[in-house]
Amino acid sequence: MADEEEEVERDGSGSSGGTNSGSGGDGAGWLRPMDAEQLRECGHRMVDFVADYYKSIETFPVLSQVQPGYLKELLPDTAPSKPDTLEALFDDIREKIVPGVTHWQSPNYFAYYPSNSSTAGFLGEMLSAAFNIVGFSWITSPAATELEVIVLDWFAKMLRLPSQFLSTALGGGVIQGTASESVLVVLLAARDRTLRKHGKTSLEKLVVYASDQTHSALQKACQIAGIFPENVRLVKADFDKNYAVAPLAISDAIATDLSSGLIPFFICATVGTTSSSAVDPLPELGQIAKANNMWLHIDAAYAGSACICPEYRHYLNGVEEADSFNMNAHKWFLTNFDCSLLWVKDRSYLIQSLSTNPEFLKNKASQENSVFDFKDWQIPLGRRFRSLKLWMVLRLYGVDNLQSHIRKHIELAKHFEQLVISDSRFEVVTPRTFSLVCFRLVPLASDQDNGRKLNYDLMDAANSSGKIFISHTILSGKFVLRFAVGAPLTEEQHINAAWKILQDLATKQLLGSP
Ligand SMILES: *Cc1c(COP(=O)(O)O)cnc(C)c1O
Repeated sequence: MADEEEEVERDGSGSSGGTNSGSGGDGAGWLRPMDAEQLRECGHRMVDFVADYYKSIETFPVLSQVQPGYLKELLPDTAPSKPDTLEALFDDIREKIVPGVTHWQSPNYFAYYPSNSSTAGFLGEMLSAAFNIVGFSWITSPAATELEVIVLDWFAKMLRLPSQFLSTALGGGVIQGTASESVLVVLLAARDRTLRKHGKTSLEKLVVYASDQTHSALQKACQIAGIFPENVRLVKADFDKNYAVAPLAISDAIATDLSSGLIPFFICATVGTTSSSAVDPLPELGQIAKANNMWLHIDAAYAGSACICPEYRHYLNGVEEADSFNMNAHKWFLTNFDCSLLWVKDRSYLIQSLSTNPEFLKNKASQENSVFDFKDWQIPLGRRFRSLKLWMVLRLYGVDNLQSHIRKHIELAKHFEQLVISDSRFEVVTPRTFSLVCFRLVPLASDQDNGRKLNYDLMDAANSSGKIFISHTILSGKFVLRFAVGAPLTEEQHINAAWKILQDLATKQLLGSP
């Protein structure tokens, strides 16, 4: 070891003082790419920074209030040629980056769906960054593949998925980056399965079915998979069924398409739709898929987490007939982004669509077929060691605490729903299923645009106050506000405060003042 490496301070003064001289480039003060002692010190300072950030998170506007292009005004046009100090960097992070951050971990964050961080998830990300493997096949890091297989089997059992989805049967689970990638890979597998049967020239005849409440990720997957746009049937969801799709609407569409010589091959059902948390009727859709030899995919990106609680597991009844199932651990399961869990009943379809076997990747374990090579279950070759963080979340919290985490948020959402119900100026638009409340200010009968402006203005005022962040959707032409509980720091006091903000703004607005 070179003596100069000993210059790095390690005598306990690390938390406050600057490591770097700032003179740059002479080797004494700069951050070396891989120096364990320097990493220890700088890493501690970064963890301190993050801990302080979480402690003070409520002092920042939840929704970033910057204007487009703000950062270009603050940063130079070219990269520095000489190294900067960590100290200077922290200053810039505080002054220039944090103002442009929307604080998804804020307890006052209620927009879209949550994206949970946690201590265990954070530590897992750290460790995965440390190993920094590129685990495309088993041999590139056997632990990465094997831990992923084990943890996804654990998870499948927590969700009580049918045993065919386990790696010990013909199925298995794999971690994808996002739900969008999950639906894309199974769509490709289903497409190719169908084309093998009907011939490659039938692509233009393949038809996909889902409700109009299905996430736009399905539409994007269809675009990528070459499904003809006119063959993507987004059937209108049933207003009376709380925006779940009516099985009859799907089977009618299938019958019509069959009679015109098309080939129905894929149904995407959702458990917990993005707009309103609707749950599609899985058993009926499963029967339809089975009768027509179609692939059934279940997208439970958000609500899948709730199904680890016995009292919510019934929302997955019917998964027995599905070919694939997806949930995002990075939404509501305390596992830092990204970590989307996908299970298939028969992995051979995925592998047939996605595998390649170039000479430079050949190795004994793969050739002998004695291992999973997850490169053949996904789009990219390279993959991160994502199972670590999920394993750490499961180990360090345990299923009981994870269930409590879910239940607590659902209780808080119930509480918010009650608050909305108690104020006659507001209405709950669809019954709450999980931790999302869809509500709005009730417009006057004479209101020209049925409350759109009224509610948009309320949302805009709430979000630009910086005190809370909520989002919106459109249901049956109504502009609806979405209040999604699920940030790890949210407590009852935050729900009450958020409600007070909305009530006060409503009062101002209904009185017509600015
Ligand atoms: C969030 C969500 C998605 C999209 O998730 P990504 O992981 O960002 O692709 C898809 N479907 C549903 C039901 C969702 O809630």
